[in-house]
Amino acid sequence: MPEKDFKLIIFDKDWTLTKPASGGKFVQNPKGQVLLPGVQEKVKLLPLKGVHTAIASNQAGVEAGHKTLQEAIHEFRYAYHLTGIHLSLFCIDMDGEAVARIYPPSCEAEAEAAGRAVGDIKSRKPDPGMLLWIIAFYEACFPQSGSLKEWTLFVGDMESDRQAAIAAEVQFAWAKDYLSGRNPVGIRKS
Ligand SMILES: [Mg+2]
Repeated sequence: MPEKDFKLIIFDKDWTLTKPASGGKFVQNPKGQVLLPGVQEKVKLLPLKGVHTAIASNQAGVEAGHKTLQEAIHEFRYAYHLTGIHLSLFCIDMDGEAVARIYPPSCEAEAEAAGRAVGDIKSRKPDPGMLLWIIAFYEACFPQSGSLKEWTLFVGDMESDRQAAIAAEVQFAWAKDYLSGRNPVGIRKS
């Protein structure tokens, strides 16, 4: 499917959109992150093209004590500043039970740490809970768009991202391919 036909593109965050400014493996503080090459050109214009966007990220570092929930919320607010992607979900525990959400500026709620994203479906990737919640959110916000799943792409850098896309039955692209414009759509479960 040509990239222009997608109505919703969901991104992993770390090493897909941003990398630590420190040069290390993990973001050390909320503003310690910079865009990866290509994000400025490929991602920031998507809303202007009418494509819905969101972030779905594993952040078990919250449960592990590497960062507080409040620091993680600030980290995703800063990622919004960098990327223009205003809806973020991140799973804060290893069990995939707890998901924090940062809503678009137009929503009344700014952020919340909630329970499971969707029913009994777990949210830590490779489980698909966050992807399914985001699809349902945009379908509810824009009912005129109809069903979005078939028109959704997930972009990530890890095998757990690819597996989450398969579990959610959406298309997948590797971040390096998407950002470079090579093979923008990788696999499709059929
Ligand atoms: Mg990643």
